[in-house]
Order: sequence, then structure tokens, then C-alpha cells
Amino acid sequence: MTDSVPAPPAVREVVAALDRRYPRSWAEQWDRVGPVLGDFDAPVEKILCVVDCVPETVEEAVAAGASLIVAHHPLLLKGVSSVAPDTYKGRIVHRLIKADIALYVAHTNADVADPGVSDALAARLDLVKLRPLVPAAPGSPAAGGRRGIGRVGELAAPMTLADLASFAAHRLPGTAAGVRAAGDPDRLVRTLAVCGGAGDSFLREATAAGADAYLCADLRHHPASEHLAAGGPALLDVAHWASERPWLDEVAGWLRAQFGVAVLVSDLDTDPWTVHAVSSSKETHL
Ligand SMILES: [Zn+2]
Repeated sequence: MTDSVPAPPAVREVVAALDRRYPRSWAEQWDRVGPVLGDFDAPVEKILCVVDCVPETVEEAVAAGASLIVAHHPLLLKGVSSVAPDTYKGRIVHRLIKADIALYVAHTNADVADPGVSDALAARLDLVKLRPLVPAAPGSPAAGGRRGIGRVGELAAPMTLADLASFAAHRLPGTAAGVRAAGDPDRLVRTLAVCGGAGDSFLREATAAGADAYLCADLRHHPASEHLAAGGPALLDVAHWASERPWLDEVAGWLRAQFGVAVLVSDLDTDPWTVHAVSSSKETHL
């Protein structure tokens, strides 16, 4: 008898496992998750995990010989009436199908999961005693346990907001955008709320959670200013990609353990911002 190498899983088996870990019913109503395209019977020898399925990450998958991309953001979120190759997304669809690469999306259903996207973000910052920032609503499909959007936890040691901003910049993947903080730089932070991705709809919850600071992506002038003026937690604004990239390691480790196949993680920064210039001079009118 000879030892035989176990057959690689088929796309449908990996899809089923991901669906069990991130049930599609846990996604927000507006979201579009699950398999997007690909032959369910094709063998999966290699998987690439990405935040965004864009031409650059697709080429990464092609070069690596991956047969499945697991992406966080949906490729096709809004109604589509054409995937003609003279459209941006149509070209991506064609490239994937021609290269025999399947695509699977786990988005807000991975956000609410336990462990979920914000757990990986919290782990990068050494947060402990984690609880959801916005627990999944009672009666909703994701309700129960520690499931919900964002996480609130304690820093291993309290630090000032200024120190926390540079700590976060060092712990998160580097981007041109870096980390901005809003509030008193000397404010001491012990309890930190975090949310992978755009988080300005949960400013009120961060205040209610008793956080000293709230870290997320895509914060804007008016909501941030009004939140601070109302005495809310200090804010840290990080690059959207950097806030969700830590999750890729977690889901990749889980996929490796489940199937024993090669699982790669894309480090291609898909954040749109590529330059961050800072000047210390102020406008003066004498
Ligand atoms: Zn996102």
C-alpha cells in the first residue's frame, strides 16, 4: 500500500465550509455575499485571500496559481445588467473565468462572526476582554454569543491618544494614509472600541460602550467634529484596507487547518490613497 496524497477539495466544499463559518443569512440586507463565480467542481489547490477583488489582486491570484479568491468586499454589490469586457467589473469577471479562478465573498457576515473581522483588528492592538461594539440584534439570524459589529476591549497598558496613534500605525499594515487621531493627544486610553472598515455609523455606540477612544476607517469632518463636541471618545481614523487586512491572516489560517491546502494572503495595499503630505505651517493674516 502506498501513501496517497489526499485529493484537493472542490470549490463547492470550500464554499460550504465558508458558508458554515459565515452564514449568508448573517449579512446585512443590502449586502451581497457568498460565491460570485467559478466552477463548483473544480479542485482547489491554492487559495488567495484579499480585501478587494480588483485587477491587481486578480493578477496576484493568476501568478500564484490560485484557484479560489476569498474576498472581503463584494465585487458586484449593486444590480448588474452586463459583465461586458469593456466595463471595469466585466473585465474582472472575464479574467477570473478565463483563468479558472472562483470568487467567494464574506463581508458583513464575516464582520459579525466570532471570530470576525474586528477580532483580528483588536488582536493586532493586543486588546483583551473583547465584547461586541454593536451586538447582533436579538431575533436576527446572527444573534447570540459574542457576535456583532466591532469590538470593545482593554489595552494591555493604558497609553495616551498620541502614543496609541503611533502604536496603531506600527501594528497595522503600513499605508500612505497612516493613522489620524482626533481629540486631546494627552488623553489616556484604556478602553478602546474598534471597527474594521467604515465606522462612523457607530459613533454613538462607541460612546455608550464607555470607550476612551474609537478606532475605525473612513471618518468624516462633520460626524467626527460633532461627536467630539458632544464629549464622545477620542477618534482614530485608519486606512480602510489596513483595518480589514488583519482578518485575512485569521481566515487563511482557518482555511489551511480545514483543508490542508496552500492559502496565501494578499499584501497588496488596495486603499485608494497613495500620498499623504503634511505641512506644519499655518495660514496667518496680519
Ligand atoms: Zn470594508
